[in-house]
Amino acid sequence: MEIQIPILADGAATMSSLGMDKDSIKELLKQIADAAARTDKEKMFPEDAFEWLAEAGLLSVTLPGKQTDCQLPENDHILQLLKRVGAANLSVGRVYEGHINALNLIHLYATSEQKKSWYGDVNQQKKLFSVWNTQANDGVKLFSIGNGRYRMEGAKTFCSGAGWIKRPLVTGQLIGASKQGWQMCIIPTERVQAIPQDDSFWQPLGMRASASYKMDFTGIELDETDLLGQPDDYYKQPYFSGGAVRFAAVQLGGAEALFDETRTFLASMGRTDDVLQRTRLAEMAWLIESGNQWINAAGAKMDTWLTSGSDADKIVTYANMTRTAIEEICLRVMPLAERSVGARGLMRPLPFERIHRDLTFYLRQPAPDATIVDVGRYVLDNQKGANELWY
Ligand SMILES: Cc1cc2nc3c(=O)[nH]c(=O)nc-3n(C[C@H](O)[C@H](O)[C@H](O)COP(=O)(O)OP(=O)(O)OC[C@H]3O[C@@H](n4cnc5c(N)ncnc54)[C@H](O)[C@@H]3O)c2cc1C
Repeated sequence: MEIQIPILADGAATMSSLGMDKDSIKELLKQIADAAARTDKEKMFPEDAFEWLAEAGLLSVTLPGKQTDCQLPENDHILQLLKRVGAANLSVGRVYEGHINALNLIHLYATSEQKKSWYGDVNQQKKLFSVWNTQANDGVKLFSIGNGRYRMEGAKTFCSGAGWIKRPLVTGQLIGASKQGWQMCIIPTERVQAIPQDDSFWQPLGMRASASYKMDFTGIELDETDLLGQPDDYYKQPYFSGGAVRFAAVQLGGAEALFDETRTFLASMGRTDDVLQRTRLAEMAWLIESGNQWINAAGAKMDTWLTSGSDADKIVTYANMTRTAIEEICLRVMPLAERSVGARGLMRPLPFERIHRDLTFYLRQPAPDATIVDVGRYVLDNQKGANELWY
């Protein structure tokens, strides 16, 4: 059954309010959370969770005409959904965020024929998409070999979902074609040779179940129709950096999970009357709620600013502040949870140690220092008063 995502009157997305839908989504997320420990192992992937998300219609939730239609200003709704999936299992949230990101890039840059085909892959065949951009020294090149054909060479690191992804969006340097630059392509995995994956690359602190292996694309041949957009579209602002609010939302879900688990643990121990425990929980509560205010404001502002064609620099700066604030919030929530539950709380089968490892690792996102420096540049170059900067 497809789940409808009801919306609160204040514009914040939520899965509350409409009886049955609320229960269905809660049940689905609980199912994903309950299964999380089973795939917290290297070489495992939460396949079941993605089947459940597909059955609930949540793989296609941003497609035209669906609950959080990407053609409409719906950022605030999708951010809340990403957060809730992240709270259930951060690895599932990571891979789901990549899927939503790929579909958004298709919405922005694909031709109508390509949209028909790729949207069909999600709608009818429930195929998982992802975005694989990170690479080491042996990164991807895309050589034009004539007759509208292209040959790939090189590898990507951190390919979340690895071989479970049937439509990876991969970027690389386009060479030998009339245009040069950083080109996106979407690999039709069943029509090309098998993509070798190096799972020995993936021995992480946390996020094991995201299966973010190294993948080698050397020898894969593609058609013109597999290329998405023009060279360098991938880095176009505000979409490139603005997308950081999506991973921030997933991260905040991890902090919410820690908060909920801490309350459950303290109740199970009969320790909720203690004044210091209450003080810690109070701090966690306001930290998390300020995180929610960040993602709700970022979603709503992005919707307004993208619709009105506002300055890309302002949108990027707000997204940069959001991801930085949420990183800080998560880094403060984690030790509060640890101190509250103590050593015995930090042992399996309780979920704290897994969520702690996952969140610590997932907080490491690209260019954190440069992001802060860029916020500083924006506010120093801007002559507006503090009360006008973000309106
Ligand atoms: C669980 C997980 C899943 C992921 N999945 C994907 C995926 O599916 N697709 C994808 O494309 N990517 C993925 N990534 C990669 C992610 O997008 C980032 O690229 C990666 O996490 C950044 O790695 P890093 O912290 O080692 O970066 P670094 O850039 O090395 O940053 C580490 C530190 O060095 C600093 N630094 C950076 N550059 C310099 C410099 N020149 N001089 C001095 N200091 C510097 C940074 O500010 C930071 O403090 C994933 C990452 C994780 C953790």
